[in-house]
Amino acid sequence: MRLIASLALLCLLTLSVRAEEFFDAHYTATFRPSTGKVAVELQLKGATLPSIVRLRIDPKRHSAFHSNDRIEMQGTEVVWHPRGKSSSLSYEFTVNHERSPQRYDSYMTNDWALLRGDKLVPSARVTSKPGLTARTTMTFVLPDDWSIATPYAPPGTRTISIDDPARRLDRPLGWLLAGKIGVRAEKIGHVQATIAAPVGESARRQDMLAFLNWNLPKLLEVFDSFPSRLLVVSAGDPMWRGGLSGPSSLFIHSDRPLISENRTSTLLHELVHIATGLRSDHESDWIVEGIAEYYSIETLRRSGGISERRYVQALDNLARWAQRSPTLFTRHSSGPTTARAVLVFVAADREIRKLTNGQKSLDDVARALAKDRGEVSLARLQETTAKVVGRPISTFERKNLER
Ligand SMILES: [Zn+2]
Repeated sequence: MRLIASLALLCLLTLSVRAEEFFDAHYTATFRPSTGKVAVELQLKGATLPSIVRLRIDPKRHSAFHSNDRIEMQGTEVVWHPRGKSSSLSYEFTVNHERSPQRYDSYMTNDWALLRGDKLVPSARVTSKPGLTARTTMTFVLPDDWSIATPYAPPGTRTISIDDPARRLDRPLGWLLAGKIGVRAEKIGHVQATIAAPVGESARRQDMLAFLNWNLPKLLEVFDSFPSRLLVVSAGDPMWRGGLSGPSSLFIHSDRPLISENRTSTLLHELVHIATGLRSDHESDWIVEGIAEYYSIETLRRSGGISERRYVQALDNLARWAQRSPTLFTRHSSGPTTARAVLVFVAADREIRKLTNGQKSLDDVARALAKDRGEVSLARLQETTAKVVGRPISTFERKNLER
């Protein structure tokens, strides 16, 4: 009896502590294909709400802001002052966005919409009492016959929970595809993989799934911290003709080959970006892109997707290409610089294996970087490697990289 009483007390305490610390945030995203827009409403509810929410918007895409409480528009910032126990903010989001002329990285037709959740909902800075955190959900309101695929839940799930521990007010991250869509889903290792494309698009969902089935397990051996859900979205023109990764998700143009003539794979390259979650500082994009390309080729070799001979040919190609790169240290690593970076990682792998008598490899370095994710720099790469090997390696010395 006493146990039950104390349990009940504990529950009450837990509830009251929760009520003090959490508020509910609910997004409703209503897709309106005839206007090319998604109407978004954010409703906050709770005993205590944040006092100020500052949204960093793109004025070309986020418009028509409205709230029952005070809002101020300051250029690229919308300042919202929620009051009381419930407050809501609404706006419109223009879906179409050109990445290059006539090539889109966000697009809506009468039958489907392909976009990034983190563009749909701008990032927010929240002022509130310490410890106050959102419990966040999002509901998609779609035209008849439409469905949706997100990185958050099985395809077709119209209300998702969003939990980003890094933020006090969560927002959806990564790619999403809504519309009349075809979906293939399968569990590969610990990853629930979904491939989605508009119905009638030439996306090779089955090919892609087979490709993932034989390559993803090899990638997971290196990157065991790979997200538990993966969404691959694909569509044809006028989408951008390449691959773009986001958290737990990627877009790939449906005309991209799974393996190109020079033995690289856009799909694998983007998967490595998802696996590592790395971003560069002002001069370290070669690390981010080099690791992605290195493991794209290396994974194909390990899975038997390309033979040893073709692997060597691929490296020869990269060596020729790399000659056109004047330096590794640029803000954006392009083809020749990334090629040069791959060769650095090939050399680093050899050096690590030699110094550790084959006990360690670049895999251990990449795995350690991927575990902590975030911004990478040469210093971080050197430190992580030194930890793995027990001493610094010469391949990653700046003077050798500058040669
Ligand atoms: Zn890349």
